[in-house]
Order: sequence, then structure tokens, then C-alpha cells
Amino acid sequence: MTTEILSVKAGIEKAKEILLSGGIIGMPTETVYGLAADGTNSAAVKKIFEVKGRPSDNPLIAHVHKDYDISTLVHIRQNYVYDLIKAYMPGPLTLVLESKGVICKEAVAGGDTLALRMPSHTGCQELLRAVNIPLVAPSANLSKHTSPVSAQHVFADLDGKIPLILDGGRCKGGIESTVLDVTGKVPRILRAGLITKEMIEKVAGACEIAEHKDGDKVKSPGVKYRHYRPKCDTALFSITETDKAAALYDSELKKGRTPYIMCADNLSEKFAGKNLLLLGKDGEEIAYNLYDKLLEGEKKADIIIAVSFGRCDGVYLGIMNRLVKSCG
Ligand code: AMP
Ligand code: MG
Repeated sequence: MTTEILSVKAGIEKAKEILLSGGIIGMPTETVYGLAADGTNSAAVKKIFEVKGRPSDNPLIAHVHKDYDISTLVHIRQNYVYDLIKAYMPGPLTLVLESKGVICKEAVAGGDTLALRMPSHTGCQELLRAVNIPLVAPSANLSKHTSPVSAQHVFADLDGKIPLILDGGRCKGGIESTVLDVTGKVPRILRAGLITKEMIEKVAGACEIAEHKDGDKVKSPGVKYRHYRPKCDTALFSITETDKAAALYDSELKKGRTPYIMCADNLSEKFAGKNLLLLGKDGEEIAYNLYDKLLEGEKKADIIIAVSFGRCDGVYLGIMNRLVKSCG
């Protein structure tokens, strides 16, 4: 199979044709690129799991356009959910709700909840409106690999495995959506992202963060898997360990290997003269650049030596979750 990359404008009719006849395509969103299928078609959804090599117990997110009647897909039992929808949707927020069973069981991994999102990406909205069905999609990378933030990243992982990638440009968000369980009295973050705990508290009054301990029955199955890994070696140091990071860099150089330090801009002087993958100066920039720099790094480096930021608040919670999984 040859894999075509077309702009949303040039490819939308073809995308519609493929999706409505049970095929799968790469699609842009404002967070990362998705690998999309008709959420009501079991055979189509199975293709996603096959192509990615994704474990079948890891459910997918259903994406709908902003005027889609979501009451056909889910039950909403808590009033704060309407306030969250009003405040943050369309946007990088995924709500886990009680499913009405319209989306096939393969997509929800046999569970009774459905993860629902309205992407704000204009091209994605156009596609969702054109097909007018919920498209289920995980990130458009091979399982365990770093998530793609451009059509070229998707191509690098899935060339020859899917017929079409709609190119909607570089993703503006850079990390996956916040996954929020809104079935209970207090919303619970299952996966941190660009919609932060603080933002949810402001609208819903309160917000918890789900803890994932070994041996627990995990509510968001995706979080238990190894994730986001670049193809090269990695190491991760805290911001108080810059000397250790520099020492590892030097010892790698001595072995004849090519190390790169990945860090925020404020450490660029500390590591002056070294190969650097600079992530930016604040949380938004770091989220935007993280996967792009990991994917750039795996091409150039034998080892990416990441240094963290000394923060876990706001968007840094989601960033640190990805950094630990990709480099820790
Ligand atoms: P990905 O698309 O690869 O970024 O993964 C989607 C994320 O959403 C994974 O972490 C899933 O475990 C999570 N997810 C999808 N559906 C559900 C659901 N019904 N309940 C809880 N988490 C979900
Ligand atoms: Mg993923």
C-alpha cells in the first residue's frame, strides 16, 4: 500500500470515502496526530490496533465535531460536566463518561465508559463534520513510540500501512489531551495534559488526580504501558543533577558515541558547547516541542540525556508524565 499525504482541503473527500468504507487514516488534531476509524465499525477499529501493535485492552478516544449531539453517545450524570464542556470544548480535554453502547466494544476495550473529545483543530473539525460520525483514534504512531506532531512524523511510522494522512500542519498543543473521569461527584484526572488541574478546579470547583500504583486496577489502561519511547538510548536527570548529566555526556563522548542534552532554554549556558535539544522557556513551549525534539533526537543521537524542570504544577504535570515515560 502506498501512503499519500494530502492537505485537508485536497484530501477531505478521499478521507471521507476511506473512513465510511471501513478504512483508517492519519488525521491532524491540535494535540498530536491521530489514527482514525469509524467508531461504530468493529472491523475498522480492529485495523487501528493491528497497524499500531496496540494492546487490545487499551481503549480509544472518540472524536466528534462541535455540534455533534453527544447525548446519543453517553449519559451525563453530573452537572459540572456541562460547565466543563462550555469552558473547554472544543479543546484538548477528553471526558470519560458512561457509554450508551453506540461505539463498538473493540474501541472501548469492552468497558462501559467512553472517552469523548471535540478537537479544536479546524481541519479536524472539517473532517468530523464531513463524515458526521464519531471517529475513534489513538495517537498515529507505532505502539510505545513517541507520538507524532506532524504529518511527516506519522509517515515515518506508518508508511505503507495506511492509505492516507491528512496534513493539517504542525500540532499546536504538542502533548495528548487531558483524560478526565467525569462519572463521579468530583472529576479525576486519569492522564494529565494541556487542560490543567487548576483549570478544571476553576470550573468544576474541585479536581482529583488518579494515582496509579503497581497492582491497582487502572482506570485509564493506557497509563500502565511503556510509552513515548524514542529509538535511541535515554537518561533522565532532575534539575539538581546537571553535573551528573554533564558527566554522563562526557563519558558517552569518550566512548565515541553521540550524546545530546535535552533541557529547557534556561540551562543552555550551563551546557554551553554541548549538543543540545532545547525545549523552550515555559510550559507551553516545552509541551509544544517535547515530541518533536525526541523525534529529532532519535535521528541524531546515540543517547538523549534529558534534564527536568524542577516543577510539576500546571502543564508541567503532563510534561513530566511524558518525560519520565519517554526517557526515565
Ligand atoms: P492515546 O490515544 O494513545 O493517546 O490513548 C488514549 C488514552 O485515553 C489512553 O490513556 C486510554 O487509556 C485513555 N482512555 C480511552 N478510553 C478510556 C476509557 N473509556 N476510560 C478511561 N481511559 C480511557
Ligand atoms: Mg498514544
